Amino acid sequence: MFKEIKKSISKYTGLLIRLDDIAENMNWNLMDKCEVLFDEHGIKPLLGVIPFNKDPELLNYPKNKNFWDRVRSWKKKDWEISMHGFSHLYEQKTNKKDYFNYGGDSEFYGLDYNTQLSKIEFGIKKFKEEGLEVRSFFAPNHTYDLNTLKALNDSGIKIVSDGYGLFPFFKHNLFFIPQLFCKEIMLPFGIQSTQIHLNYWDEDDYEKFKNFILKNKNKITNTEQILSLDKQNILKNCINFSVEKILKTLRKIR
Ligand SMILES: [Zn+2]
Repeated sequence: MFKEIKKSISKYTGLLIRLDDIAENMNWNLMDKCEVLFDEHGIKPLLGVIPFNKDPELLNYPKNKNFWDRVRSWKKKDWEISMHGFSHLYEQKTNKKDYFNYGGDSEFYGLDYNTQLSKIEFGIKKFKEEGLEVRSFFAPNHTYDLNTLKALNDSGIKIVSDGYGLFPFFKHNLFFIPQLFCKEIMLPFGIQSTQIHLNYWDEDDYEKFKNFILKNKNKITNTEQILSLDKQNILKNCINFSVEKILKTLRKIR
């Protein structure tokens, strides 16, 4: 019995490495280092690739002219190539009414359905032109509304790497992989993803991350592994529901 519980806990414990803001312009020095580290330990991260980056802050970083070749080479290693917004410009205000109550500015929230759909479809088209199929998405600043979720669904996106909970869950016909903390934290139980912004890191941050990976490499999971877990479980859904309520309440108080 104890063995069974232990087995089940370890099956449902894992951290997906999600890297945000992957674009032509980024901190390539740290990206190269992370790639070596991931290859050494067989880690397959999820990369949030911005199809048409126009964010002035991100454009300050060095440009890689062979960016899409690089993305294809990651895809060949079975890394999950995810679409991270469209141009990464925050032109909408959410006033804390966005789907997850994060409340920051947004690229999608509040736009009508057709505008959101065309942004998402345009993004997917860019990946297609580069020979890449995308099935997963996460929005800049975690900000969505119901039109975003509908537009994602209608454009064939299946996975959203955002949301509350200790376990991935199905909602609005999408599979959500929760993303709870901005620091790399290994919970004793549950499956979720990091959010890593290499552009804001220095060498020290990289060293800390490397040590974290070395210490926790057995618990690092990947998108395929998460998808292969069983999809319906009442206990998981109950726990997720409670975590969502607690976090939404805390965000409203702050
Ligand atoms: Zn971003």
